Order: sequence, then structure tokens, then C-alpha cells
Amino acid sequence: MIRRIVGIETEFGITSVSGEGARGLGADEIARYLFRPVVERWRSSNVFLDNGARLYLDVGSHPEYATAECDGLRQIVAHDRAGERIVDDLALAAEQSLADEGIDARVYLFKNNTDSVGNSYGCHENYLLDRSTQVRGIANTLLPFLVSRQLICGAGKILPGTPAGVGLGETSEPVYCFSQRAEHMWDGVSSATTRSRPLINTRDEPHADSTRFRRMHVIVGDSNMIETTTLLKVASTRLVLEMIEAGVELRPMAVAHPVRAIREISRDLTGTRPVALTDGTTMSALEIQREFLGAVRRYLDAGGWERDDRPDVEHCVALWERILDAVESGDHDSIAADVDWAAKLRLIRQVQAKTGADLDHPRLAQIDLTYHDIRPGRGLHSVLERRGMVSRVVDDAAVERARGVAPETTRAALRGRFITAAREAGRDFTVDWVHLKVSDGTVPTVALTDPFAEVDPRVDDLIAALGR
Ligand code: ATP
Ligand code: MG
Ligand code: MG
Repeated sequence: MIRRIVGIETEFGITSVSGEGARGLGADEIARYLFRPVVERWRSSNVFLDNGARLYLDVGSHPEYATAECDGLRQIVAHDRAGERIVDDLALAAEQSLADEGIDARVYLFKNNTDSVGNSYGCHENYLLDRSTQVRGIANTLLPFLVSRQLICGAGKILPGTPAGVGLGETSEPVYCFSQRAEHMWDGVSSATTRSRPLINTRDEPHADSTRFRRMHVIVGDSNMIETTTLLKVASTRLVLEMIEAGVELRPMAVAHPVRAIREISRDLTGTRPVALTDGTTMSALEIQREFLGAVRRYLDAGGWERDDRPDVEHCVALWERILDAVESGDHDSIAADVDWAAKLRLIRQVQAKTGADLDHPRLAQIDLTYHDIRPGRGLHSVLERRGMVSRVVDDAAVERARGVAPETTRAALRGRFITAAREAGRDFTVDWVHLKVSDGTVPTVALTDPFAEVDPRVDDLIAALGR
């Protein structure tokens, strides 16, 4: 029985639209407005919140929300969505302060991974591994999964055509792709910074006892809007990790050129294009995914994943199969309620059917973007959600709760309690993923090196000492 910590970091795209006659604002400037209440309250633009999450402004003006450590599937979905609500509140407040200064502007935050001028920003998944698991050692098994996983959890994107010279990352005709992020990955497995965009970053920063734990940092995923897509992304990846750690024999499918493969797979909605393997043979993305799905089913039948959330996992496995069947048959609408790329494609096809617009028409680019607008009632995903046209995993009450309350089953609970107590006691404090510290040094710092431990008498003492 494997418990596993997962955290999701989301960088949001940011832009603004000014009213008639109003001056335009640069991304830097909007980001400053956005973080003004944060800086006023915490004197920093890099903070930990009562729900255990980290909110910060990274280089390039992309606000980032990193969920607290979660060990439940619905839990991570709720906390990921809580992040959207938290940054949207900042956007609403920014619009208000702009208005107060007589600047007529709307602020837009996008949970996507590319902007209109070709920049990319990430959605990083963090999975806790046992120290004895070497990421490089499991890369041959994991990379074929990660390069083809976009079929089941890609967010979809129109890749515009480039008339002259087709290089890596370019296409002569516009195509609808599975993935937002595929064109922006430049390495397979690397310990270099995440800026070099490896699929998996092996930088050894476990944020925990380094003799017992590792943190695997997956850089390759798309940000997801549909809760079910997030659920499937995390559940399928956890299942594959669990099988690998359990020593399950998988068919060798080492991909010869992961960076090329991920782009080729992304651009082929039929899932049938041959991908070169290191042994000289080829497999299609569909075949690779079916291989993993089959292994997962056998693993579950043999008693794997005997936990309370087994029904959610079984739901994911059934959906996984339904998606592969839909890719194979081309009946993409049949999965449009559950998978981002298919939901967005349905919207695009509907407009094309009405207007005859080509794939590179600006109106379709607008849909591609607006799908990811996180503002309720404005973003297309949110409109679909309100109409019941995309599926959910948790309800509004769970998201609302995750906004203010840390996951109760991991050390995030301790961080959340400490932050709330210190704030209420009016004490200055500094916190990171491991440490809880009262700034004036009157109480010893507590290090939470076990991410699974949600109770700790030292934290009780620390909190008791705050009032003194
Ligand atoms: P940066 O993004 O600035 O390069 P970073 O990768 O350390 O740094 P953060 O943005 O601080 O990332 O987010 C760390 C993420 O890792 C959070 O979502 C957190 O919940 C998660 N996390 C923390 N400790 C662990 C752990 N031991 N195993 C798995 N995930 C963890
Ligand atoms: Mg981060
Ligand atoms: Mg990171």
C-alpha cells in the first residue's frame, strides 16, 4: 500500500485589455497590481498561505500557485482549483485598484502554457518517490508514458502554420495538437534548471529528509481546466509510478528521441504515427498507451491500489480506455466532457461548422485562448462547466474549503495551522516547504522533514508559544 505525496505548480499567463482611450499596461505592471495586496499584507511577493500552498511571482511576470502536499486524488484536484480562485481574486482586486486610479482595464489570467508570441510557462507535477528509486533508472519506462500521456490529458492547441522553412517546433499547415507544452520541451531527463525544459527534472531538492525521499519533478504536462483531466493525469501517472516501484515487468518501449517523439505525437490526432524506439522498432502513441493501460489493469486485478479511493481509480482506468477508443475511432466528441483537448476541439469544430473558418482564423485562436481564462462566466471552460457540459470531480464547497484549509492528511496541515495561528497572533514568521519559523527567533525553528506526518507535538508547542 503506497501513499504518495503530489503537488502541482501552475504558472498563469497574464494580460490586460484597456478601455477606449486608456493606456495599455505591460505584463510587469499588471503583475505588480496583482500582487499589491499580497505585498501589502506579507511584505513579500513570495508567500505561503493558510491552506499550505505557495503563491509567488516568478521571473517573467507569471503568477505561480503551488499546491500544498496532497496524498489524495480528489484532494489534489480541489487544491489545484482553489489556486484558480485565489489568483482570480487577486485579478478582481487589481481591476478594482486600477479603476480607483482611473485606469479602465480588465485583467486576464490564463491557465494555459503558451502565449501568442511563443513563450511557454509550465505546470509542474511533483511526485514523491522513495529515496531508493533512481529517476534515471526508471526513465526508460517512464518516458514512453510521459511522451504519449498527452492523448489522455493534453489541453489541446492550434499550432499555426509557418510558410517558410519547417524546423523543429514548426509546421507548414496549421494543425490541432493534443498538447500545449509539447513544442516547448527540449530534453528528456535532466538535472539542469527547469528552464532547459526537460520532460523530467532530476534536480535533487526533495523538500524533505533526503535520506528517505525524492521529489520527482515532471515538467512536461499541460495545465488542465477540466477537473476530470487533472484527476486522470495524476491518477495514471501515480499508477505507472506505483507499478514501476513495485517491480512490475513492462514491455520495453524506450523512445529513441523523446523530444522529437513528443512533438510528433502531439501533432497526430489519429495516434497512429510510428514513434521510433531505441531497439530499432516503432510503436504508435496509441499502442504505447494501450500497453500501459493493459499493465495497469493487470496490476489492479492483482490487488494493486487497495485504498479508499479505488473507485476513483477504476473510474479513471475506464475513462483512459474510452479516450484511447475515441482517438482510434476519431469520435472525439464522445470524450469532450472529460478531456481538455477534446472539449476545446468541439468548440472549434462548432465555430468552423457555422462559419467555415480555417484553423488559422483569429477567431479560433481566440477560442484556443479563452478556453483557459479562469474568470467564472467569462472563460469558455467555466461556461461549459456551468452548463454541465464538462465533468467535475469535486464540488464548489470542496474547492471553497481548499482555499482556506490545508490538506488534513499531510504535513501541509501543520504548516496551515502554524500560519493561521501566527497570523492571528500578529507574529512575523517565515515558512518554506520544510521549515516553520517565528521571525524574532524567540522560539526554535521546527523542521518538518516527513511530508506524510500530519501531527507533530513540536508544532503544538510552537503554536502554544506564539501567544506568549
Ligand atoms: P521552483 O518552482 O521555484 O523551481 P520548486 O520546484 O521547489 O521550485 P515550488 O514552486 O516551491 O517548486 O513547489 C514545490 C511543489 O512540490 C509544491 O506543489 C509542493 O506541494 C510539492 N512538494 C513539496 N515537497 C514534496 C515532496 N517531498 N514530494 C513531492 N512533492 C512535494
Ligand atoms: Mg514552482
Ligand atoms: Mg517547480
